[in-house]
Amino acid sequence: MTDLLPLDEPFDRVSVLLPLPLDVAYDYKADPALELARGDVVEVPLGQRRMVGVVLGPGGDDAVAPERLRAVFRRLDVPRLPRTVIDLVEWTAAWTLAPRGNVVRMAISTPSAFEPPAPVVVHTAGPQEDWTGQARLTPARRRVLSVLSDGPALEQKDLAREAGVGPSVIKGMIDCGMVAPHTVAQPAPFETPDATRDGPTLSGEQQAAAETLRAKVDAHAFSVTAVDGITGSGKTEVYFEAIAAALTAGRQALVLLPEIALSAEWLERFADRFGVEPAVWHSDLKPKVRRETWRAVAEGSVRVLVGARSALFLPFAELGLIVIDEEHESAYKQEDGVAYHARDMAVVRARLEGIPIALVSATLSLETVENVRQGRYGAVHLTARPGSATLPEVALIDLRKHAPERGTFLSPPLVEAVQRTLDEGEQAMLFLNRRGYAPLTLCRTCGHRLECPNCTAWLVEHRLLGRLVCHHCGLSARLPKQCPSCEAEDSFVASGPGVERLAEEVLVRFPDARFQLASSDTLTGPDKAADFVRSVRAREVDIIIGTQVVAKGHNFPWLTLVGVVDADLGLAGGDLRASERTYQLLHQVSGRAGRAERPGRVLLQTHAPETPVMQALAAGDRESFLQSEIDQRKAAGMPPYGRLAGIVISAPDADRADAAARMVARAAPRLNGVTILGPAPAPITMLRGRHRRRLLVKAGRQVNVQQVLRDWLAPIKLETSVRLQVDVDPYSF
Ligand code: ADP
Ligand code: ZN
Repeated sequence: MTDLLPLDEPFDRVSVLLPLPLDVAYDYKADPALELARGDVVEVPLGQRRMVGVVLGPGGDDAVAPERLRAVFRRLDVPRLPRTVIDLVEWTAAWTLAPRGNVVRMAISTPSAFEPPAPVVVHTAGPQEDWTGQARLTPARRRVLSVLSDGPALEQKDLAREAGVGPSVIKGMIDCGMVAPHTVAQPAPFETPDATRDGPTLSGEQQAAAETLRAKVDAHAFSVTAVDGITGSGKTEVYFEAIAAALTAGRQALVLLPEIALSAEWLERFADRFGVEPAVWHSDLKPKVRRETWRAVAEGSVRVLVGARSALFLPFAELGLIVIDEEHESAYKQEDGVAYHARDMAVVRARLEGIPIALVSATLSLETVENVRQGRYGAVHLTARPGSATLPEVALIDLRKHAPERGTFLSPPLVEAVQRTLDEGEQAMLFLNRRGYAPLTLCRTCGHRLECPNCTAWLVEHRLLGRLVCHHCGLSARLPKQCPSCEAEDSFVASGPGVERLAEEVLVRFPDARFQLASSDTLTGPDKAADFVRSVRAREVDIIIGTQVVAKGHNFPWLTLVGVVDADLGLAGGDLRASERTYQLLHQVSGRAGRAERPGRVLLQTHAPETPVMQALAAGDRESFLQSEIDQRKAAGMPPYGRLAGIVISAPDADRADAAARMVARAAPRLNGVTILGPAPAPITMLRGRHRRRLLVKAGRQVNVQQVLRDWLAPIKLETSVRLQVDVDPYSF
């Protein structure tokens, strides 16, 4: 399809996709004078509302008679969406089976992002005497003029507020010509990174890797390259070279990070290398910044943007490179709404754009490893840390032999190692991937456990907040005085450790040490995160007690000991990727120990030292771990060696959920090479008050599961209270 619609033909209708949970696009009448084209952002009527949507092409829905069509109101004054973005929307919808309207919503950000800027007001008339004769100069109007004469032009509502008058006063002044509204161009807030600045002198293997990536950027053709390098080997420095190449070639670069809100350190490094900070994109941006960034990306004044997964749908005008840092991270998989994997869709976008993409990690995902092995992706390898830095030595502590004292969680060998580290004047990190005080609170008398009323989940005590919190739905409650089951008073006790409880133990064991809690409850934003990193670097902290938010990225030169309090934590639960994720997370955490001149040590407390994960971590033997995972997945026909999709059916009550799930199961096709499992209770059986049942579709690699699902589910009609969600290649199921 060409970008411009055929204007010479009788051209009177366009097909417009709206950001609603709908797959269909609607036809609208279009004034040919608007010269609408594919990708234009338009405002249209929908019922009583006005909505912003995207023109997909000429209308073709002959079911609606021309005289019943409503007309496009206007074309918005924003750049047209590039064809690649519309293709990506179509691709993502087809892959995930999400309605196209839900996907396009990500591409146009939010409709409110397109509100036109409010006109500013300038003081046009001459000296006051000139118009006192024509218009009355009330005290309110006098205040407005005095505010205007004091400073720069203001938006109308700000002007009214500053002058302490109502909006009608300003309007009246505009009407009589005392002041004039005026739209001024926003100054471009995005500075251009300087690609000519020098980076560090690269080592031989860093140089070779950078050269490979630079050549891909210069070739300006689709390619996927895995950047496979141990923690601290300089992967970031290497892909900075690729970004520099893209900038030199006059193209834009997009970098995805799994936790952009906590990436102050990355931004700083970028600024060191390129002289300015890059543009950023994540869900917490203020609407104004969001609007400006979206536009600047489309117009090309943003040259490098770093963002969370949704940045993938931004309308880059001349993209030349995509980098996915920590490509193995499950944060790239969106679970709610459009269930897409940003890494996979990034590869699709790179193919649509015809540009290179780099997948970066110290612990590449099994999917990427397999693609490299099959020759579909290229790879560069970084095997050493620069200078004299070495990888930490990893040892297991068998908790069956070295049990912590009752009511404590640190084994004697770990306590001793922490003490020695403190004595040396170095820093230790205790890693426990559990927020709050205790994962479970139970009644001492009857054993009753405090559960979320809306979810199948324990309530987690957060002692710093003085609340019990559900980590699934956010419900927060006071600890009850009386057990709801046996009515015993003050009988609740904490069971198991969270980071807050670990902090109590640290306080008792190392009373002179300065410790710092680091979890998503304490590092609540970029500022807090930056402050944390600064204080650790300044050695104002001796012991870090942290969850996964401190597992990756940070370089702390004085941190020489990492103690993993419960290495088995992620292994429970039978998730397909449990071992892989545990390996990746613990390997990442281990990478925090020992940089620069001071060698690091890692101690993993485990009840299962014989498992392949623990053995591989201790031996630093990634290959043998990958092989054991590959063997298992192959034998089970699981991804990436087979295809998997989940169907979750939910309803406000259990009976309705069961009935709907049975109905969907009865309609299941019988096909060779396709196995359908369930219905069974979903792993989180109740979530936010909805009862959930699940079916799994397992198929061979060659099977087009999307087609199977479409054929199966299309004819199914559900009651309105029942929801059905498809998750192709699910991560938590
Ligand atoms: P990774 O991304 O692989 O974990 P980084 O790029 O963060 O590694 O590098 C780890 C540390 O080593 C950083 O502080 C970085 O500035 C430094 N570094 C990397 N390469 C070099 C080099 N060639 N010369 C000097 N310092 C380097
Ligand atoms: Zn809940």
